[in-house]
Amino acid sequence: MKKTKRRLRRSKLVLRRAASTAAFAEATRYLPGGVNSPVRAFGGVGQEPIFIARASGSKIYDIDGNVYIDYVGSWGPMILGHSHPAAVKAVRDAASKGATFGAPTLAETALAKKICDAFPSIERVRLVSSGTEAVMTAIRLARAYTRRDLIIKMAGCYHGHGDSLLVAAGSGAAECAVPSSAGVPSAVANLTVVIPYNDIGAAKKAFRIHKGKIAAVLTEPVAANMGVVPPADGFLRSLRDLCDAERAVLIFDEVITGFRVAFGGAQELYGVKADITCLGKIIGGGLPLAAVGGQSRIMDMLAPAGPVYQAGTLSGNPIATAAANATLDILAGGGCYGKLESRSAMLAEGLKEAAREANVPVVINRVGSLLSCFFTGRPVRNFEDVKSTNIRRFKVFFAEMLKRGIYIAPSAYEAMFVSLAHSKRDIEKTVEAGRAGFNVWRTAFSG
Ligand code: PMP
Repeated sequence: MKKTKRRLRRSKLVLRRAASTAAFAEATRYLPGGVNSPVRAFGGVGQEPIFIARASGSKIYDIDGNVYIDYVGSWGPMILGHSHPAAVKAVRDAASKGATFGAPTLAETALAKKICDAFPSIERVRLVSSGTEAVMTAIRLARAYTRRDLIIKMAGCYHGHGDSLLVAAGSGAAECAVPSSAGVPSAVANLTVVIPYNDIGAAKKAFRIHKGKIAAVLTEPVAANMGVVPPADGFLRSLRDLCDAERAVLIFDEVITGFRVAFGGAQELYGVKADITCLGKIIGGGLPLAAVGGQSRIMDMLAPAGPVYQAGTLSGNPIATAAANATLDILAGGGCYGKLESRSAMLAEGLKEAAREANVPVVINRVGSLLSCFFTGRPVRNFEDVKSTNIRRFKVFFAEMLKRGIYIAPSAYEAMFVSLAHSKRDIEKTVEAGRAGFNVWRTAFSG
């Protein structure tokens, strides 16, 4: 280890961090762990966080004056890039008319219509304020609709921090000292049946063991909270068929994939429809807005139309709704997904080539503008595969990228998000940084 440290010091680049270090010390006096969401703390890469001052386009600027090409994109929402002029204008205009009314507005219906048009499986939609709420509502609906209690979830998928879903969860929960979470009653956790992602045999077995008790299968159609793990050929279709045969509800958590891997999400890309779809991140355009939608026979069970209660003071908030409408209008405008695909392919290919030249074994999983670089020589198809990759090497890579002005997620379990603001030059710089990072890695770990 000492030898490794000595070698790593040979990479002379040092980041200015004094202001961020002081800010973090102050923040930890008032905020648990110094942050308002765990992965922001950089614990997964053994560092302290950088504090952000502002962002524009593909760049993010910290309070020490460093500038980075940003592949976190606030963990997914910023598909247009930061501070897109149309989104900023929409937010300004809406804010000047009042922040929140707690009463219906025309913009909510306009947004709901756009979501229904984009997702043929969605006939009605309820707007909420976070992905967590969307998934909580989805499983309550599924339970009410089927009059059953159990939910099947996939290990390594993350669905927000609702009690029953903090079981074998990905994202920040994968790095917790307690694997799921303290404070979740076992009576609640026991209502969740965990199976490996991409394992249709395990799903069938779970249905056999819990015959007639499974309300829903809940999955990210492309897993993106254990790094990116695409669905195996036919996996989503088989889940669809299984749910139909067992009269269970299929819930796709498209909080990350919705409007990301295609305008109509993973459902459009893979041609498989969900009964209930959860959306978030991109649909809020960077403001707190998410949604749950599905066929009206299920959705009309929601209060006030039906007996399933769900409510929210800020649901369909006018400022968030304005950002959402502006974002979806731009994405619907054409050309966006082709551009995202070619920039993302360029990045993935460039990094692969750089790793090959440096003789560093990596696997790059990519679906559209979502990608991950795993430090392993073997395919990564589920959470077990992800956990067997070399996290220590990821930490070195992360540190080298950050020093070179590339901001990737500070965790081996998160995706890289490419936005429409990333230029070819940005991608070239990122690949160059990757090349340097792989070489430092090779020097540090060889011999
Ligand atoms: N589902 C998925 C797939 C997510 O990635 C996330 C957040 N990363 C959530 C749900 C929860 O969303 P939120 O953080 O808005 O509550």
